[in-house]
Amino acid sequence: MPMKPTTPMPNHPLITRLSGQLRVWLGLGCLLLTLAGGGSLSAQVVRPLQTTGPATNRVCFLFLAEGYTADQQQQFFADATNLFSRFLAAEPFARYQGYFNADACFVVSQQTGSDHPSQSYYRNTYFNSTYDSYGNSSLLTIPPNEVDPVYANGQGKVDALVATFSPRPDLVILLVNDANPAGSEQGGVVMVSRSASPNLLLHEAGHGLARLGDEYELAISLGTTNEEPNTTRETRPEFIKWKSWLTPDVPLPTPETVDYEEVVGLFEGAHYESTGWYRPKLNCRMRQVSEPFCEVCLEALVKALNRRVRTLDGWQQSVAGTNLLDDHRVLLTLNLVQPSDHPLAVRWLANGAALPGQTNLSLAFNPSGFPSGPLRIRVETRDDTPVVRTDAENDLMDTQEWGFAVQLPPPVVRLSSRRGSGAWGVEVSGNRYGTLHLETTTNLTVWIPLTSHDFTSGLFQTNWPIATQRQWQGLRALVEPLK
Ligand SMILES: [Zn+2]
Repeated sequence: MPMKPTTPMPNHPLITRLSGQLRVWLGLGCLLLTLAGGGSLSAQVVRPLQTTGPATNRVCFLFLAEGYTADQQQQFFADATNLFSRFLAAEPFARYQGYFNADACFVVSQQTGSDHPSQSYYRNTYFNSTYDSYGNSSLLTIPPNEVDPVYANGQGKVDALVATFSPRPDLVILLVNDANPAGSEQGGVVMVSRSASPNLLLHEAGHGLARLGDEYELAISLGTTNEEPNTTRETRPEFIKWKSWLTPDVPLPTPETVDYEEVVGLFEGAHYESTGWYRPKLNCRMRQVSEPFCEVCLEALVKALNRRVRTLDGWQQSVAGTNLLDDHRVLLTLNLVQPSDHPLAVRWLANGAALPGQTNLSLAFNPSGFPSGPLRIRVETRDDTPVVRTDAENDLMDTQEWGFAVQLPPPVVRLSSRRGSGAWGVEVSGNRYGTLHLETTTNLTVWIPLTSHDFTSGLFQTNWPIATQRQWQGLRALVEPLK
């Protein structure tokens, strides 16, 4: 049975293109403004909401307070904590919570709430936010907008605050202390009221983290041609970028019926266009923010998280330097950031060859186990999540390599003929592994192999009774080093 298209069409008439960019979400126009200039700062209080590792190796969120008065500071931190935890409860982020840091930055507004011009209700707030923007009651904006064109009154203050954080946060969220659910995205800042669900933040994270496109349609064409991971104009099956998710029983293009509601296909209507553009699934958070992300968007997000966050946070090395001059054990230990539901696959290699059975977070080895010369130890970690089916650029793999120089002295061989003891003595000492070959001769010209011994520690000793070997004219020992 045909289903009604679920396109969230815009319910305000004004779509204005500024600075060549325009993004629309949930039927609410949101304007990406690129403007220069600075803003003034007031006293700010910064509190970490979650710190799982160094900011240089995490997806970092920054929450800013708008419409919170001086005595509502704790309320702001509680609201930001609540919104962030609800964001992290959604897939795929729930499995990757350890990949995120978040800070909250409180600045004082003189009055609580936000402007509602349609009700002649105005508040004196830090970023001068307002509802009713561009004729839409639930569209939140800050200057410059149609009621206040001064950049420094809104966006400039955001930019000045953000500039105090290094590295720059990956997503900036202006949390507006107002009971009316609303939101938007403007100038790279997500604006959301404290009463709104986390769905808008999740949708905007799709844009900001994975460069996902909007999967919905608009009444008018925007004429943009750049494809995103989840939008395409391609209809040939072998060239569809999410072909690994397609199955032969799903027709392409895919009818918008309940029969195909749960499958990945090629659904017409995406990228603001109702025809000629396609999306992977009937419904997705990039089409309707209350829906979960589709498989293709989940895959893109997990790959984006792995591009942003190196799973190898760091490591420890038990010996200093890179020259290995004695046979003391070397221990390499990894610090990994890992998904919560499955461990990363780990393998260790030495000089390009995998070390059998070495799949743990640490590797211990003795230098004498390797030939003299350069020794390259390498570790590879991989996120084998089934959420990702195509990883042509190895986004889910991380590597680290250590270069050592093995410079252990060669083994020392000592032969002894102890008169009266009735035996030849053979002793190998040193730090090398290898093979000891004993040879004998009766004419000092031709040497005949007598026996061989592998020695795997620093000392090998044996004795050969002289009494039973009267015909020998000589005994020699050869050490073949480990290859
Ligand atoms: Zn999607």
